[in-house]
Amino acid sequence: MRLGEALMAAQARIAPVSDSPRLDAELLYAHVSGLGRAQQLARLHSAVEAGDLARFEALVARRARGEPVAYLTGSRGFWTLDLRVSPAVLVPRPETELLVEWGLELLAGRHAPRIADLGTGSGAIALALASERADARIVATDVSAAALAVARANAQALGFDRVTFVEGHWFEALPPGAFDLLVSNPPYIAHDDPHLVDLRFEPLQALTDGADGLNALREIVGGAMRHVVDDGWLLVEHGHDQAAAVRALFAEAGFCDIATRSDYAARERATAA
Ligand code: SAM
Ligand code: GLN
Repeated sequence: MRLGEALMAAQARIAPVSDSPRLDAELLYAHVSGLGRAQQLARLHSAVEAGDLARFEALVARRARGEPVAYLTGSRGFWTLDLRVSPAVLVPRPETELLVEWGLELLAGRHAPRIADLGTGSGAIALALASERADARIVATDVSAAALAVARANAQALGFDRVTFVEGHWFEALPPGAFDLLVSNPPYIAHDDPHLVDLRFEPLQALTDGADGLNALREIVGGAMRHVVDDGWLLVEHGHDQAAAVRALFAEAGFCDIATRSDYAARERATAA
């Protein structure tokens, strides 16, 4: 079979479960063959090697059942980093880069800021911030030991030994002292949201708080004041329909300068104060 035909067939099988079936097929083929996407384009008329084809088709079958591409290839691009991922961690989302971008703005002008990333998963936010702020002292926490193992491996692979990882429930894991920035992308999907079925390969505790979707945010916003410096910031990701409720939580907790920003899809996605 020619590569062009193999990719077309894969694209058709993946289409029912993906918004980007062609890209998915190319990433999976790159994983089995070592050929980048541009190299693939130049070889669409070449025959696919039998071993590569068999391994590719096995991955395409798994993708067609809904497994995320990142779990099949073991990696995912986030910010400028190539992160290792496993089913122990949420696949980092492009919209979460908004937290990195905004967090960097909030820290502009501060020397050696102290940052805490609560619920770090793969380490995405903490490591992206570390990559931009060599002077920052960063703590990243998670309740999942398996997730922290992935995050630590990512930090090690990137050589970021300024990031420390601690296991524990939200603030309980934090060392004493106040932070310039607390940042978190907590689980914010309600336990009965039908969308969870599509996300069934990812860890449930990364996605939902087991309640109305605001429980983790209530705990984080409610407890944050004791862990930030007077002119420090709390920055959280939330669902697009949760912005008003999250702003109310911030106000109730005594925060000022409350602002919400939208992601690239124009959905209200993050709030800081
Ligand atoms: N920060 C990563 C990202 O943006 O890709 C992962 C975010 S994921 C939506 C939420 C993370 O919070 C998961 O890694 C989950 O294990 C962690 N988590 C859930 N409950 C927690 C708790 N009570 N304390 C600390 N972390 C928790
Ligand atoms: N943004 C993820 C999704 O809707 C949810 C992650 C989260 O709960 N923080 O697919």
